[in-house]
Amino acid sequence: MASNKKLLVLPGDGIGPEVMAQVARVAEWFDRKRAIGFDLEEDLVGGAAIDAHGTPLADATMDKALAADAVLLGAVGGPKWDDLPFEQKPERGLLRLRKEMALFANLRPALCFAPLVEASTLKPEVVSGLDLMIVRELTGGVYFGEPRGIETLSDGQRRGVNTQVYTTEEIRRVAAVAFELARKRANKLCSVEKANVMESGVLWREEVTRLHGESYLDVELSHMYADNCAMQLVRAPKQFDVIVTDNLFGDMLSDAAAMLTGSLGMLPSASLGAADETGRRRALYEPVHGSAPDIAGRGKANPLACVLSFAMLLRYSLDQGAEADLLENAVEVVLASGKRTPDILQPGHEAVSTEAMGDAVLAELDRLGG
Ligand code: NAD
Repeated sequence: MASNKKLLVLPGDGIGPEVMAQVARVAEWFDRKRAIGFDLEEDLVGGAAIDAHGTPLADATMDKALAADAVLLGAVGGPKWDDLPFEQKPERGLLRLRKEMALFANLRPALCFAPLVEASTLKPEVVSGLDLMIVRELTGGVYFGEPRGIETLSDGQRRGVNTQVYTTEEIRRVAAVAFELARKRANKLCSVEKANVMESGVLWREEVTRLHGESYLDVELSHMYADNCAMQLVRAPKQFDVIVTDNLFGDMLSDAAAMLTGSLGMLPSASLGAADETGRRRALYEPVHGSAPDIAGRGKANPLACVLSFAMLLRYSLDQGAEADLLENAVEVVLASGKRTPDILQPGHEAVSTEAMGDAVLAELDRLGG
């Protein structure tokens, strides 16, 4: 019998614990009904860890994250900790996890659920059926490149410097993740840079093209400049299947793509590291949204971004694509039934609480797959 999967659950701050409580129920359902055994261990991150341990991520928690099959995180931060120095803020806990787990590939799907088509600011025909994935390089590029800083010049002016830098290996490893993903989807990859004006973009394009020729000729590869990609995402987003791009362009394009689908409360994400010799990758799953202090503790948070992050965990860390489909289908049916948390409520729908949304997903799981 397969051994249980070790999941480290870090609910964090604000609405984090509320939405994660619903995910814990969903995980328990899969454990009980579908024989995917989980050992869930919960720990502190962010402000909650600062309050308990004086640090946003204790070393012991970091060790558990490194040993886990996957980490699920709610959200960190809140006004209580806003005045702390930068190095001690709740967000540093998340950054430490990303850094020490070496999570270089950030996966941000933009999936437009049919019942939410009206929630997008774009025309229904532009977004209906949308299902694209942006793979953003997460640990290199201009956010980390050296030299960096602000200096004062001899004439008294100040100069700010950041450096866009990528190596062959950094490009190849994130491109490989994107090619592999494309193979499991519609088999199309669009690589995005600005090779027209940046040498790092020229290198990016050459290395992605070389890797394609070496190992992924079955995947349809195209290239696009980042500014054009921004336009195409709002003009005709359904032309894309998987997009791979660098840290800076990915930061912006993934936010733009995410908003095609409507609400922050619906957006999951995954961050993956390198595969070890057994094929296992370090992985962190989290909703895109923050700790939403304005609604925390009031039963108003939408748990679906976190639930859908768990679906990504099933698909990418446990290779349980059919189970992930089951969970995503359950979410879609619940939305179609008109049950909505306040963030996605439209006239004629039934307003439900965070927990009632969890109830509805579980009831649908029972109906579809119990
Ligand atoms: P936020 O994502 O927390 O909230 C933005 C808006 O969206 C708020 O009005 C909030 O009520 C709403 N919202 C967010 N998630 C929702 C959900 N699941 N259901 C319903 N409504 C939801 O962003 P913010 O207000 O800019 O930041 C609040 C705190 O969260 C800050 O301390 C910030 O640093 C932190 N933050 C953390 C993360 C993270 O943990 N990954 C990400 C972003 C912000």
